[in-house]
Amino acid sequence: MKIGLEIHIQLPTRTKLFCSCSTAGDEVNSSVCPICLGFPGSRPMLNRRALEMGISIAKFLNCTISERVWFSRKTYFYPDLVKNFQITQYETPLGRDGHFTVGGRRIGIWEIHIEEDPGRIKRAGRAGEEIALVDYNRSGVPLVEIVTAPDLTSPEEARAFLSDLLIELRHLIGLSAQDETTVRADANISVGEERVEIKNINGLKNIERGLKFEVKRQSKLLAAGKKITRETRRYDEERGTTLPSREKEFEEDYGYIGEPDLGTFNIGQMARALEVPETPLARASRLEREHGLASSSARQIVLTSWELADLFETLAARFGAETATTWTLGPLSSHWKELQERHGDGAGEKVVPIIEEVHTGAITDAEARMRLDVLAGREAVIATAPTAQGDLEQLVVRLVDEHPEVVKDYRNNPRAANFLIGQVMKETQGRYASKEVSDMIRKELEKRV
Ligand SMILES: [Zn+2]
Repeated sequence: MKIGLEIHIQLPTRTKLFCSCSTAGDEVNSSVCPICLGFPGSRPMLNRRALEMGISIAKFLNCTISERVWFSRKTYFYPDLVKNFQITQYETPLGRDGHFTVGGRRIGIWEIHIEEDPGRIKRAGRAGEEIALVDYNRSGVPLVEIVTAPDLTSPEEARAFLSDLLIELRHLIGLSAQDETTVRADANISVGEERVEIKNINGLKNIERGLKFEVKRQSKLLAAGKKITRETRRYDEERGTTLPSREKEFEEDYGYIGEPDLGTFNIGQMARALEVPETPLARASRLEREHGLASSSARQIVLTSWELADLFETLAARFGAETATTWTLGPLSSHWKELQERHGDGAGEKVVPIIEEVHTGAITDAEARMRLDVLAGREAVIATAPTAQGDLEQLVVRLVDEHPEVVKDYRNNPRAANFLIGQVMKETQGRYASKEVSDMIRKELEKRV
């Protein structure tokens, strides 16, 4: 199975791609001007920020960046397209031949370009008497289009690809949290020989669902010995199915011509000057490499928060990866939201001395956990352990029974009790005070000496 995606994501600029209208217009047709309404004589001007964001994405996705680019008019008629053409990039995308790795697999990126969005059509009225209303607030909103090679091998992988890509782009260009529902894609999928394109699916969930439906449909046809027709289909969101679409345009039908009002842009220099910052999943891979973390653990730390990952790196540098891992994946992850709410950017600084004390043995794990509870504004967990005494006693007796060698050692070396203290701490996850635990263990050991 082969799946390729053409992904459209709105670039989070304040103004539109070719005019200074706001991208945040609320009321219908409130954010428009002669340029985005395509009045004769109006001339587009390129939004530099949108161009930079596009180049950052192309660079981040390891594309070869074009030295010089220009824009093209893609001509077609539709009521949402006031000018009767959409300004896009045809011969000269921002970048080509990149790749992005998901789940250890490298997925090719054919090209990346920027373009303007058309308006929105809303249908109203009863069937048969429908009218179409057009809102041009979206006309001219900047989009980036990312075209992948048909390297994806399942609907699940396509979704994981998009999900990981969005995590990185959120950090890279500041996408909003709604991007999972607003991302749009055209997907081409071939289960057998012939390729079918599904146009205009909205949101990650629907993209995966539409592809799953298409896998089933094509597989059934093949199993029945039938042929799959090469065609364009549309996704029916309510039914979760795909239907043949009347749309039959091919690229050559669009009659691309160069956009004479914008000129050319030498982006090579710009691209070399732009620095791509480290992104969350790239950071997770680095933590995995540098500290021997499991891939899922590294992701957990980085995706909990960027600052938690900072704290992890501080702890690892000072006390070693093992201490950093235990504490960051355990209590620090589960307390992080409260710690940040109460202490903001200072949360890490407050935590480090506690981990230092437990690392040097000045306090026990349980004490450190209690102090973290207090720091996070929680009730110290020890107060909430029910029927504590009896449970603890049973556990201690069982462990001492299980380790006669410790009892033997203990005669000459009282420190042998630490082994059992550690076991109890691990099994009870620090629910008991360290002094209570060590007293009870010593008492039990004394009985048997
Ligand atoms: Zn405008």
